[in-house]
Amino acid sequence: MKTSETIALYEKYGFANYTRLPVVIVRGQGSRIWDADGKEYLDFFPGWGVSGIGHCHPRVVEAIRAQAGKLIHVPNVPFYSEEQGLLAKAISERSFGGKCFFCNSGAEANEGAIKLARKHFDGKRYKIITMHNGFHGRTLATITATAQPKYQAGFGPLPEGFVYAPFNDLGAVERAMDDKTAAVLVEPIQGEGGINVAADGYMKGLRQLCDRTGTLLALDEVQTGMGRTGKYFGYQHYGIEPDIMTLAKTLGGGVAIGALVAKSEIAAAFVPGTHASTFGGNNLACAAALAVFQTIDAEKLMDNTNKMGKYLRSSLDAFAKKYAFIKEVRGLGLMLGVELKMPGAKIVARCLQNGLNINCTHDVVLRIMPAMTVTVGEIDKAMDILGGALEEAANAQA
Ligand code: PLP
Repeated sequence: MKTSETIALYEKYGFANYTRLPVVIVRGQGSRIWDADGKEYLDFFPGWGVSGIGHCHPRVVEAIRAQAGKLIHVPNVPFYSEEQGLLAKAISERSFGGKCFFCNSGAEANEGAIKLARKHFDGKRYKIITMHNGFHGRTLATITATAQPKYQAGFGPLPEGFVYAPFNDLGAVERAMDDKTAAVLVEPIQGEGGINVAADGYMKGLRQLCDRTGTLLALDEVQTGMGRTGKYFGYQHYGIEPDIMTLAKTLGGGVAIGALVAKSEIAAAFVPGTHASTFGGNNLACAAALAVFQTIDAEKLMDNTNKMGKYLRSSLDAFAKKYAFIKEVRGLGLMLGVELKMPGAKIVARCLQNGLNINCTHDVVLRIMPAMTVTVGEIDKAMDILGGALEEAANAQA
């Protein structure tokens, strides 16, 4: 199909809720994608974090093929399935030994976390504290948890019981707490919020505060999870453990899946009839996710993430030295942000034109999150393109 034909279909039959460029992507492999006209791009923001081990990783493709020919879906009631059991074990063993509930997206996982925290306290505590500039999804409860007015505008009345505090401000969380607080929900690194890394003392302090007050610490690892930061889960950088954790994005290697992970005494609140998902934890998605874990381990992708993260960071730091309009480079592993002193949309558009896909969030933060399989050669090529776009921006300013 021609690009114009695909766009015409969207115009006639699709909702207009996404801002798209006139590009139709038809194929992906590793860190590369191709459009309908055959143009190749380096993808340094693959699937908004979904394709964290690269597009169409051969191990994931093979696992999906094999599983699709065997069994795609059985319902959670009344049956068990092998793949779901094995995936729960894989997550539990690599994290804090909790139990898993499976759903289909990050928002659903966070919605589940909010429900679980409230159910755990049986209605006696219901408030959830979340952080300014956080992002937790697009359901009614998760836009309310997302302390950013732009995501909430026009959707009221919003559910009650959400309280906000500035990110990285422990005192503000303490002041926001009362005897009705059920949980603190926070990302270890705010992704959409601009790659804001939680300070060490903040995360440790949240853990202590929650312990002291009997509040649950719920970590949204939808974007930070599955190795992207150089450890399996973002919290592992801080020497703490959460009570609840949510996952999605990279977990399924491109197939839709979300997970709610909780310490077993907390998971116990979801007795039969309290929470469910028809598609959640289906055989196909779980087989894909198992292949993602196997790939990360077998190919030592977290080692590569740490190495390539440092390499990429050194190029970004060099840009920051060269261009006065770069305010700061920050992040962990291959979750990096470049904050500009001006809007970044033109730089992102120029990069795409020249064959590199990156993202800009909060108007001024270039978000660069290549796949954990990325190579030195791919980073060099991407930095050539980004460097060109930055140079043009500098010339335009002069
Ligand atoms: N939580 C975080 C930290 C996210 O980055 C996102 C999506 O970007 C979500 C939740 C929502 O995930 P989904 O779009 O799969 O519902």
